[in-house]
Amino acid sequence: MSGLDLTQSAARVTAAIVDIESESGNEKALADAVEEALRQYPHLEVLRDGDSVLARTDLGRAERVILAGHLDTVPIAVDSTGRRNVPSLLEGDWETGTLRGCGTSDMKAGVAVQLVLAATLADPGRDVTYVFYECEEVEAERNSLGRLIRTRPEWFAADFAVLLEPSNNIVEGGCQGTMRARLTFRGARSHSARSWLGDNAIHKAGAALRRLAEYRPRRVEVEGLEFREGLNAVGITGGVAGNVIPDECSLVVNFRFAPDRSQADAERHVREVFADLDAEIAVTDSAPAARPGLHLPLAAEFVSAVMAGMPEEPTAKFGWTDVARFAELGVPGVNYGPGDGSLAHKPDETVDLEQVVRCAERMRSWLGSAS
Ligand SMILES: [Zn+2]
Repeated sequence: MSGLDLTQSAARVTAAIVDIESESGNEKALADAVEEALRQYPHLEVLRDGDSVLARTDLGRAERVILAGHLDTVPIAVDSTGRRNVPSLLEGDWETGTLRGCGTSDMKAGVAVQLVLAATLADPGRDVTYVFYECEEVEAERNSLGRLIRTRPEWFAADFAVLLEPSNNIVEGGCQGTMRARLTFRGARSHSARSWLGDNAIHKAGAALRRLAEYRPRRVEVEGLEFREGLNAVGITGGVAGNVIPDECSLVVNFRFAPDRSQADAERHVREVFADLDAEIAVTDSAPAARPGLHLPLAAEFVSAVMAGMPEEPTAKFGWTDVARFAELGVPGVNYGPGDGSLAHKPDETVDLEQVVRCAERMRSWLGSAS
């Protein structure tokens, strides 16, 4: 018998999985519990890969959707009351109370919703693939979603994807792209007592900093959602010694771009901004943006199912998320899940249990009804 009882409410399952520590790289105990619990349900095909777990129904439905969430959390911390933030702590009751603890919002509440749906929806109107992956909170190379998509592509053929990262149950469409570039300014060294013999590379970087300070980032509407871009210096290095005119200075800039630009467009833009400055420009890393796609029939139907009666409207996702990986596969996706992203990674992280319960209910009625 598994230690994880998935017939409980999503709120209680959230507490049960918060209590199994799963800092990035240390997800084995939680992956074991998830795998064991899901294997009890004959309507699911279950696959274990590393410390990731995949499960799916195979009912031959006309549509298939992916529900995805990461099992890992940031390191356990001590909260503002001096208490270690695992195990979880319930304040109030299981329907309307608050659960405190590491990973409550980011994103064990979303994972609990996935688990409860996986266990209890034996006959959904849409086939569902549930993805529980590892190492999201660390360097992108360790994120197992990238590995699983490469090595198990047949598990990622779908018509639509929902990433249950915390969004206060508001659908967030698409995501921004991100690109880092290094600008290198070169000069000539000399003794600072005879500076006229040198050429100061740090001074040359000044023109680029002025340009960044004056840069007017775009606000652009893409498929009905407003995205805000940003181009910022995020690092600068230079200098040889206290008595030497420096011959090199490098400036790292980060461009967060809207999904109407490809990575090539974004690079072209960065090069244009600094084109007349005497700098070598090299892109050091980048990840593509994802278009929101909320006008597509499945996405539009999802939005009206999960947000019916709410005063809020869907918004654009600021920041890069794994939704972009689905977009690259041609699977449109959204971020939608219980919890507050602004509490993520904080020692006093909590989740509002009413949101957890409501998210599970709305997802259940959306998945339960074949169109
Ligand atoms: Zn997260």
